[in-house]
Amino acid sequence: MNMEKICQSCSMPLDSIDILGTERDGSKSDQYCKYCYQGGAFTAPNMSMSQMETLVKMQMEKKNMPSNIITMAVDSLPNLKRWKKRDSINHNL
Ligand SMILES: [Zn+2]
Repeated sequence: MNMEKICQSCSMPLDSIDILGTERDGSKSDQYCKYCYQGGAFTAPNMSMSQMETLVKMQMEKKNMPSNIITMAVDSLPNLKRWKKRDSINHNL
C-alpha cells in the first residue's frame, strides 16, 4: 500500500523526501512541503486560502498541467489540514 501524500497546505504531492518541509528540530515534516513549511512554521503564515488558490493555479499553469488537474488541486484545498479549521482563526487583513 502506497497512499499518496499531499502537502496539507498547497496540495502538492509529497512524492520525494527532498520536497518535504522541516520541523523545528530539523526533522522532515510528513504533512507539508518545503515551500510551505520550514523550521516548524509556515513560510507565509498570513496567506489566505484564496491567495493559496491563486498561487497553486499559477504554479500548475506554469508547468502546463491539464486544467482538470488544476481544478482538482484547487478544489481540494479547503479539505487540507491548514485550511480546514478556519473558524478558529478569524483575522483577515
Ligand atoms: Zn505545500
